[in-house]
Amino acid sequence: MLPYAPASAAAAASFPPIIPEPQFIELQAGAVQRPNGIDVAQVIGDVEELVTEFANAMGEGEYALIVEVDPEWTHARIPQKGLPQAYELEIESEGASLVAATREGIRWGLRTLADVLQAIPPTGAIPQAHICDWPDMKTRGVFVEDKWGPDLMELEDWKGIIDYLAARKMNNLGIGLYGCWCVQYDGGVTEWINVPVPGHPELKREWTVRWYSPTTRKVEQISYLPPIFEQDFFGDIVAYGQERGVEVIPYVNSLGHNTLIPRLIPEFAAKNEQGEPEQWGYCLSNPDLVEFVKSWYQQIYEKYLKPNGVHTFHIQLDEVGTAFCRCEECSKQSMEENLKDWVVTLAGHLISVGVQDVVMYNDQFTRHMQVWDEGFAQRLRDEGIYDHLIIDWWAYSNEMPHDKSDPKVGGGVRSWVKPMTCYYNWSRWDPRQKNVAIMCLRGANDWAEGAASYSVFDPGWGLEFDALAEYSWNPRGVGPIHAFEEKWARVRADGDVLEARRCLDRAFDTNLLNLIAYYAYTYERAGKPWPRQYPLEALEELSGKVDALEFIAEAGARARALLEGRVDELSLNMAAEAARVEAHGVAFSVMLEVYEAATGATDNPISAEAALPEVETALEILEEAMLTVEENKPRYMVPSCLRDMSVLYEFLGQLAGDLEEVIKGKREWSAVRWFVHRNIAQRDWDLWDEVDQQK
Ligand SMILES: [Zn+2]
Repeated sequence: MLPYAPASAAAAASFPPIIPEPQFIELQAGAVQRPNGIDVAQVIGDVEELVTEFANAMGEGEYALIVEVDPEWTHARIPQKGLPQAYELEIESEGASLVAATREGIRWGLRTLADVLQAIPPTGAIPQAHICDWPDMKTRGVFVEDKWGPDLMELEDWKGIIDYLAARKMNNLGIGLYGCWCVQYDGGVTEWINVPVPGHPELKREWTVRWYSPTTRKVEQISYLPPIFEQDFFGDIVAYGQERGVEVIPYVNSLGHNTLIPRLIPEFAAKNEQGEPEQWGYCLSNPDLVEFVKSWYQQIYEKYLKPNGVHTFHIQLDEVGTAFCRCEECSKQSMEENLKDWVVTLAGHLISVGVQDVVMYNDQFTRHMQVWDEGFAQRLRDEGIYDHLIIDWWAYSNEMPHDKSDPKVGGGVRSWVKPMTCYYNWSRWDPRQKNVAIMCLRGANDWAEGAASYSVFDPGWGLEFDALAEYSWNPRGVGPIHAFEEKWARVRADGDVLEARRCLDRAFDTNLLNLIAYYAYTYERAGKPWPRQYPLEALEELSGKVDALEFIAEAGARARALLEGRVDELSLNMAAEAARVEAHGVAFSVMLEVYEAATGATDNPISAEAALPEVETALEILEEAMLTVEENKPRYMVPSCLRDMSVLYEFLGQLAGDLEEVIKGKREWSAVRWFVHRNIAQRDWDLWDEVDQQK
């Protein structure tokens, strides 16, 4: 027996990759076969239920497990900051032993053991191994923005996200409790509030979503309050997270992304120079407003967090810009001073009632204003806030990190970095794995203590979530992002899924997915008519780009073919993305051809007779894609995904009708309509009559 002899190269090659990549693995001679189950031989320390849960998941068998929590345990390899979540694991032929200083170390060590043992092929073996492991960043997780999708999640869906994160050794889940944007669907302001506000039953936001369902072959409509609001279960999510080692924290907006409360309670709103209320922001000189926000945040802490042992609160404060109150009292000092006072008031109050970590975004400090300096840092020290404050540096580019979104700019203040993992999934494919790698590397270089992505949740973005798990735990990971993609495919799927993923990403690389999906046209834009003219605005930008559109269609079709027949959650969701990409590529290729014929932009125009069957085929492909979305995506994503696709569906139907009339001589080519009339996503908009009159 030579327990410390190194493994042979051949044996070493068979050691399974896991996510996240452990910091240190030493492979040894001696083989470990796939165990028939676990025999818990000894547990020292208060981790019985973690070990039992592990053993139950693995089944009962002969592979002996010894687990020890030793508060004095340490290891020369492990940096001090890594120790609270570190573990050491010996995986040997007959059994495994795990030691850590803390319960969290044991939790992650058991996760590694499960991942490794389950990856041993039924008839194969792996080398014995000694693993010494710890996370580079203390906090690793995902912020689920209040958005379409999360607003339809039930408690079980949220628990599923927690399990998903814990399986990747991530330990933080942020949930957006209050956030507002601008006018988008149905002429209404995009707003969510996800917890009831005591004393203010008027503060709620009901949503109506309409879409065409290929299954029922009719327009469906739902009106709802988010289940998290209606059933008030945020506290249950927090409690479940604590069981799983995932700290669930609230994100609550105040100055920016804030329209619902000031719209419904005008005396709290920011005011103009005449003292009249705006429909956004807060008047910080109003003592009732200050008391309202302080007591509401305190209530969130005391009702949902504190009883569950959670003491972290994200106050956001991003993208305020210059949207500050301009009343006489607020105007007595600069916007910069108002911002600083507000941070001191809000953070100071939360800390005074027991919150330990107050997190806020960097951008108002360092991008929209230049207020983060040594003077302000000193003020925060004097107020007893500085050590409790974490600045969350966000930047979402896949190419270049933002120079003002860099923990270095903070001069040593506690920091998180915030890449984007999954967003726009209600509308289109949007890969972010490169951004995740860039931001985690930046965080590691600058000693950020956390990485918490901006996100919603969609299993189709598994690569991004896994990349975040990988690089926030171990900034070297398995190597650069392209190397991680290969590993990811080995761990989660295989080469077909990787190739499908790369097809989707190449479609994204055309930079046209944003242009051709409906979502961008839900926004008002200066100089553009409202409601926005979709797809006309896109077609006007697409001149000469038919090759790229056809490539999008081909890449989507190729990805869909590679994923066909697979039934795992990742593949099903990616297949829906592939179908959506393909359908947009097909539809816009055809539409562009017909548009160029109708507008005389080509010397060789397609005839209406030739165009009609092509449009009808595009419509069938789109309907098939919508069916795939309906069948494959999580239930909570289906309404919002199909809403945007339904706008295109309506338009293709309208275009086919117009072409039939051209063929019959009832409509001139020049009278073919290029934007959808009475758009399904904007039907409640009461200015439609005005639009009709403009025709
Ligand atoms: Zn004011």
